[in-house]
Amino acid sequence: MVDKKKQKFVGLLAQKVLSGEISQELFKRLELAVNYSDEFKIQELGDPAAVAVVDWFKRRGLERAWTFTKTACPGCSKESYAFENKNLMLVICPNCMGEKTSPLLTMNPGQKDLQGLSAQVREIILRAEARAANLSPQPK
Ligand SMILES: [Zn+2]
Repeated sequence: MVDKKKQKFVGLLAQKVLSGEISQELFKRLELAVNYSDEFKIQELGDPAAVAVVDWFKRRGLERAWTFTKTACPGCSKESYAFENKNLMLVICPNCMGEKTSPLLTMNPGQKDLQGLSAQVREIILRAEARAANLSPQPK
């Protein structure tokens, strides 16, 4: 099922990747947070970008019209991107959120998509996938 609101949000972030404003690595983490936001518990997330996005969704940040502006990050005062929905605000700061670099791990091809993610986020995703697999058992 494609959620139009999420798609619009991710599409805007994708544009930022193509224009070189945010890294593909940060985008991938944000996109995963969008796709799995229903699965995540904020207190279990260790990735600041994922926490910000999931929190924004849980507070229904996408449910009303939102605006997108460039702003100075409250943390480091470098250029960042603010999604504003009345009194709700989501700040995506490539400087603060893009610094996490995880060592490249050797993984089997099936796990390739998870490269570049923090160990904790990876674990959460694998757990969510395992749960999904349990719900739909493989035919034997
Ligand atoms: Zn910042």
